[in-house]
Amino acid sequence: MSYFRAEIEAMAGYVPGEQPHSGEFIKLNTNENPYPPSPAVIRAIEEAARDGLQKYPDPTAEVFRRKAAELFGVEPNWIMAGNGSDDILTIATRAFVAEDRLLRLPYPSYILYETLAQIQGARSEQINFNTDWSLPETFGRSSDDLRLVFLPNPNSPSGTIVPPEQVLELAERLPCPVLVDEAYVDFADVNCLGLVAQNEKILILRSLSKSYALAGLRFGFVVAQPQIIEQLVKVKDSYNCDMLSIAAATAAIDDQKWLAENRAKILATRERLVVGMRDLGFVTVDSQANFTWNTHPDLPVKPLYERLKRDRILVRYMDYPGWGDGLRITVGTNQQIDACLERLRRIV
Ligand SMILES: *Cc1c(COP(=O)(O)O)cnc(C)c1O
Repeated sequence: MSYFRAEIEAMAGYVPGEQPHSGEFIKLNTNENPYPPSPAVIRAIEEAARDGLQKYPDPTAEVFRRKAAELFGVEPNWIMAGNGSDDILTIATRAFVAEDRLLRLPYPSYILYETLAQIQGARSEQINFNTDWSLPETFGRSSDDLRLVFLPNPNSPSGTIVPPEQVLELAERLPCPVLVDEAYVDFADVNCLGLVAQNEKILILRSLSKSYALAGLRFGFVVAQPQIIEQLVKVKDSYNCDMLSIAAATAAIDDQKWLAENRAKILATRERLVVGMRDLGFVTVDSQANFTWNTHPDLPVKPLYERLKRDRILVRYMDYPGWGDGLRITVGTNQQIDACLERLRRIV
């Protein structure tokens, strides 16, 4: 006999990208930023550590909320902070989707969404992207049991974006909230933040892991209308963000100069990666994120992943049943990307 809920026994569990412990890898598999964060972040952590770890942190991360509100032109009660944006995905799933109700997500996209539905005992409905990574009309269809829609924008693994006008249209048609996961949006040309004031069903999720180079810190936040935030707050752990991460995240978003410079470097290297991959005969999707999605018309890509790994270059091999496989390559430094391209040139 089992002590566990049937849903838990039945599910596989989410497997994060590899974090190798031994040896020197060029790590291009989990969309981390290749550069260290703003020095202001390190100073803020040191200061916070010196004064007050014996006390509980502020449960609502007020200093962060005020700073973020100023930056995004909303009031602080439009924002809720989370222990990474994954924490907020969990909170939203728990808050909106009752057992046996339906959560919709596009496919292929972030694999964690389905895991969250499974843990919740909810059903999930994957709707395939069109082959050009646009959303089919069915994605906006109403359905009785539908309680929440996740839309990663830019999407992973494609790096493609659904235009804001279309996101607004979706929210207007759908009977439930649409959580727009903007984990990669700082690398894109457009974002959906401005839509929040227009429709209470739109929730915007942001992460400090990628564009602010703080994946190790665990900090994300959601922007939505205050009546939505008020309910979400009831579901979160009381102290879901610790004192060090609140101080660090506040310093990070306060340094927009660092963000702009980092973004410019990543975008320049992304172009180099796209051009390089296409030169090698890959089909590489135009990317609005800090990674690219690559397939090859003639070669199976799994052996390429394995050969690269043997040479200590780690990219992400993804195989989506019913869709196909490919290599997702994170935009590293110029040097890292050149090494990866050079190695691939000798293999293909
Ligand atoms: C990386 C990623 C996240 C998680 O970000 P954290 O803030 O590190 O939890 C969320 N959504 C997508 C699509 C991601 O790729």
